[in-house]
Amino acid sequence: MHALELIERKRNGEELSADHVREFIDGFVAGDVPDYQAAAFLMAVWFRGLTPAETYAMTAAMVASGDTVDLAARLGRRVVDKHSTGGVGDKITIAVGPVVAACGVPFGKMSGRGLGHTGGTLDKLESIPGFRIELTTDELVEQTREIGIAVAGQTADLVPADKRLYALRDVTATIDQVSLIAASIMSKKIAAGASAVVLDVKVGEGAFMRNVDDARELAQEMRSLGEHAGMDVVCALTDMDQPLGRAVGNALEVREAWETVGGGGPADVRELVVDAAAQLLALSDLGVDEEEGRRRAETALADGSALAAYERWVRAQGGNPDPAELPAAPLVRPVTAQTSGFVRELGAREVAGAAMELGAGREVAGAPIDHAVGVVCLRKRGDQVDAGEPLAEIHARDEAAARSAEAALLAAYEIGEEPEPRPLLLEVIH
Ligand code: URA
Repeated sequence: MHALELIERKRNGEELSADHVREFIDGFVAGDVPDYQAAAFLMAVWFRGLTPAETYAMTAAMVASGDTVDLAARLGRRVVDKHSTGGVGDKITIAVGPVVAACGVPFGKMSGRGLGHTGGTLDKLESIPGFRIELTTDELVEQTREIGIAVAGQTADLVPADKRLYALRDVTATIDQVSLIAASIMSKKIAAGASAVVLDVKVGEGAFMRNVDDARELAQEMRSLGEHAGMDVVCALTDMDQPLGRAVGNALEVREAWETVGGGGPADVRELVVDAAAQLLALSDLGVDEEEGRRRAETALADGSALAAYERWVRAQGGNPDPAELPAAPLVRPVTAQTSGFVRELGAREVAGAAMELGAGREVAGAPIDHAVGVVCLRKRGDQVDAGEPLAEIHARDEAAARSAEAALLAAYEIGEEPEPRPLLLEVIH
């Protein structure tokens, strides 16, 4: 069937057969279906959605578009993975990996770069001097076996269909469609070969999913895609109205992850690290439940074994784990409150925008980023502040960037009456 006919059918709200979905994806990856037809198809999907059968067929076709790694089979163990749908200040993977490894569970995964306003684990890890993110599949497997933890960049051969489709979605306003996000994330998880994954589905202003209903739908789609592929999936819906932790910006976030791994760090980061670690341990082959997983994760944070695992991991990938060696911005300046009151809102997107002004993120794929710069939010939702007291700290390369970031940050803070407390963990879907 011609691509045109498939686009027409989808536009008219008809369900495509699995063969037709596969044909379309194969044709796109092979270059037989041009970008303009793929873009029209994506927009038809954005309006009409995909049925569960279509989403499964699309995911399977995407997985089959490149190499796959059977990490669990090669290690002869259950391997667990953790993934976030994308947020601001989200450094959980960097902190949770060492906790899980310290508890004796292999944590081998491939991570991505920042997408849009959201940061990416790879960019953050690259701020560590010497850290090598390009591991071959053999190196990923060997390091996970020997050190217990390895995090690598996705190889070009893993789900090439997602790389091309994502680039097209990014420029055709078709990112925020539940089935397309589910297929994009789960194709990469399935191809990378973990046995179980904990998905942190971010909800709120700073996330792709703005409300709990959409996030729940995304979680359920990802769970059923995982189930089809024999993968256990637990989804935690967590708040992303404000940034996670205090630091937003690559090296600053690594430092915060390091503090957390050493038993400190902001309370919200620690909470999500312990939650995710408990779920991952319960999904592992240790034979423990979540409660016991939580106890072990807390012990690893308290007794230094998570920090030791972090240091082993960073050294194994050529990096220097000493946080004093992380790049630092030449200019650090406070942003002060103009009125007294409580922080009612701290807009995650606006904070991300401030970090972007400083050069911490990229507007277009492949653009360079400045690992040293970013923002530290000293006050967060619910905190009290007096006029003239610092709200945040800007880490900038120069004056001009600091000024633009300051304006963006002041717009992120809403000061007023004390807000109602809002939970960080909204829902867990097992
Ligand atoms: N993360 C992904 O990997 N894909 C999406 O489509 C959205 C977030």
